[in-house]
Amino acid sequence: MDATTAAKGPVGVPGSLDFDAVIIGAGVAGLYQLLTLREMGLRVRSFEAASGVGGTWYWNRYPGARFDSESWTYGYSFSKELMQEWDWTEHFAPQPETERYLNFVADKFDLRRDIQFNTTVTAAHYREDTRSWDLTLGDGSRVTTRFLITAIGILSAPTMPNIPGIDAFMGQSCHTHDWPKGGVDFAGKRVGIIGSGATAVQTIQEIAKTVGHLTIFQRTPNWCAPLNNGKISKDEMDAIRSRYPEILARCRETPGCYVHSTDPRKTLDATPEERAEFWEKLYASPGFGIWQGNFSDMLSDRAANAAASAFIADKIRQRVKDPVTAEKLIPKNHGFGTRRVPLETNYYEVYNQPNVQLVDVNETPIERVTAGGIQTSAEEYAFDIIIYATGFDAISGAFDRMDITGVDGVRLKDVWANGPQTYLGVFVEGFPNMLMSMGPHAGLGNYTRTAEYSVEWIAGVIRHATEHGLTRIETTRTGVSEWTDIVLGLGEDQLMNEVPSWMTGVNHNVAGKQVPRVMRYSGGHPAYRAHCNAVAAAGYPHLAQA
Ligand code: NAP
Repeated sequence: MDATTAAKGPVGVPGSLDFDAVIIGAGVAGLYQLLTLREMGLRVRSFEAASGVGGTWYWNRYPGARFDSESWTYGYSFSKELMQEWDWTEHFAPQPETERYLNFVADKFDLRRDIQFNTTVTAAHYREDTRSWDLTLGDGSRVTTRFLITAIGILSAPTMPNIPGIDAFMGQSCHTHDWPKGGVDFAGKRVGIIGSGATAVQTIQEIAKTVGHLTIFQRTPNWCAPLNNGKISKDEMDAIRSRYPEILARCRETPGCYVHSTDPRKTLDATPEERAEFWEKLYASPGFGIWQGNFSDMLSDRAANAAASAFIADKIRQRVKDPVTAEKLIPKNHGFGTRRVPLETNYYEVYNQPNVQLVDVNETPIERVTAGGIQTSAEEYAFDIIIYATGFDAISGAFDRMDITGVDGVRLKDVWANGPQTYLGVFVEGFPNMLMSMGPHAGLGNYTRTAEYSVEWIAGVIRHATEHGLTRIETTRTGVSEWTDIVLGLGEDQLMNEVPSWMTGVNHNVAGKQVPRVMRYSGGHPAYRAHCNAVAAAGYPHLAQA
């Protein structure tokens, strides 16, 4: 069979291509994508850089890593049997439990036989003559596939700070994403941590229990709120299980697919007493209620947002004894909820410990990492361990790190140089047969809930291709421009999109990523699903199919 014949053969019929579909990544989205495509009878292979499944939950094994969405809203919903079999032990499960869960899923559905671990996809090049993708793997070997599905996560490309001397440090150091499997012993150690995002917050509150001395280097404080976690008893788990249909229905209705949805009232329509009572209740409640379940205008109206921010600022002042430290911990350049809210357990109380010091690097910038610690403009701090909780080149970063080229060798990185442009967050013009699970400009939120939808929608497109003998699917330019306009338009009145953070694609450690951009669809997941469902029901009108 020559290449042209192979290109025209329906998917599922062995031809000259190695696979019908290749999935990059075996995390939450990738595992389920593998199952959906395998069940369609396709020849599928997953490539995973790690030695095990789990993606985010494989890598981020730093102390204190855990969910901030309710565990019982995070599990897969595609298998009733799976939901019956799995018990969550805490309302916000710690990383080891989630990693165990994803391994349980991989075993239950016998997924490992189609996953090649310890394998990085370094390059993916589209070939028009065969309507297929040529992939290069980390060991230099090559494979070909009709469809390429990226399930590479949105927070999977960790970034180190752009500080000189990192390699000079003689002690132990690592990025939170690349945490050693054997763990790190902090007892009695002098520890420095750079960063104050959700990861740093979880790490700090955990290691503060055992460190000898802890120094936190903070550039931008974040608005943190209590997680209010708790154990789940056997009886409680049984009760949760019986309510799964109701819980999932609720998650389907809310903008972020959490159990929390906004209160229809406007902030300043409520009296100061009503506001205080409402916020006190949210502050004492588990999870993201204070962020996702706040007054309806909290993230779009500046005065409303300022009032909510003042409430949280007072909480910080009440919890941190030293007023100078408290003021340093209160964000001044963005309002509450305009960056993802780190949820915490006794985080602010850590700053009352005599062995904990907060260094504001705006006042005394870090000059370099030395053999023995960190040199700021004011002094050198001596450390045994340095932790880099410095975040990710988010959403598009993992794409940028691969050499992905489409029709005529055009590089994806160049196409997205001024920000991502996609159709539904799934397709890119000029990159036929590449489908992105949870790609830029898709509807994000409670990860498994949104990823499950993304996976099923992609499976629907591939089923459509299979049934119609299609070998080339590409978005039209109109599809991309219409979707990009929708996404940018929806982003306009969102305070969140003005603020530099990973959610707006800003990473000061990455060239060309200094300015906030609209990176996510912000119309709420129900509207996103309605749009995508309508596209599927209409036979994918903006996809050129051949
Ligand atoms: P992040 O929010 O981007 O925080 C990175 C931190 O490093 C920021 O405080 C940043 O300061 C600081 N930083 C970076 N480069 C620096 C430099 N050169 N000098 C000084 N400081 C520097 O990353 P993250 O904390 O890893 O969290 C990312 C997201 O992961 C979260 O928002 C959340 O969505 C997710 N996450 C979820 C959970 C969970 O519970 N499920 C837990 C952890 C993380 P600036 O802000 O000034 O840039």
